[in-house]
Amino acid sequence: MTYAIVPAGGLGARMGSRRPKQYLRLGRAPILVATLRALARARGLDGIVVAVPEPHVEATRRLLAASRVPKVAAVVAGGVDRQESVWRALQRVPESARWVVVHDAVRPFITAALVERVRAAAAHGGATCGMPVRETVKRVKDGAVEATVERVGLWLTQTPQAFTRALLWEAHEKARRDGFSGTDDAVLVERLGTTVAMVPGLPQNLKITTPEDLRTARSWAKPHRRA
Ligand code: C5P
Repeated sequence: MTYAIVPAGGLGARMGSRRPKQYLRLGRAPILVATLRALARARGLDGIVVAVPEPHVEATRRLLAASRVPKVAAVVAGGVDRQESVWRALQRVPESARWVVVHDAVRPFITAALVERVRAAAAHGGATCGMPVRETVKRVKDGAVEATVERVGLWLTQTPQAFTRALLWEAHEKARRDGFSGTDDAVLVERLGTTVAMVPGLPQNLKITTPEDLRTARSWAKPHRRA
């Protein structure tokens, strides 16, 4: 069995809106609903556990039921950061699930094929997707270039990421013991010394973070006009 975890527990401080960004609209549906629908289309996915801000748990359960989002197994209260939200959701993944796919709530443009590709690449434990860096990378301090970073081998990391449930559990436990906080799940698995496979993601797999991102996402989501 394969389960998905969707961390949606952020308050969206960088978006500057009162409502967390995952509840803002993209076309007809909130971003969270669009992401869950896209994820649910993946073959072989049996259930989804969603972590949302604690005050939004009840309303989200109602929203997902009313929107008839398939495969939602549980909506749980998230934690203070992404890592804690994933950890809390992981508690609700049944032991019978051998695989766990983690996918950010604010990346609605994934395809079922991408989810399936990442899951297949995790055959030896863990996999993520991403895009090779194409531009020249510079480290900047106080508005001035400090250094130009060799870009060979650098990738920008996306989600979905996939792991065996046992490996993800062990990785989170170790991070908690060590007081380590990471911005994705792969880094926690890397700290165990386990290889994480990298497969090509999608250029359109935007992570909606700022108002500018939301404008871009909305322009992509517009229904195509008939000729
Ligand atoms: O803010 P950040 O870039 O870490 O957000 C990535 C994803 O993690 C978003 O889907 C966000 O809702 C989620 N998140 C979470 N719990 C938090 C903070 C962020 O699930 N406390």
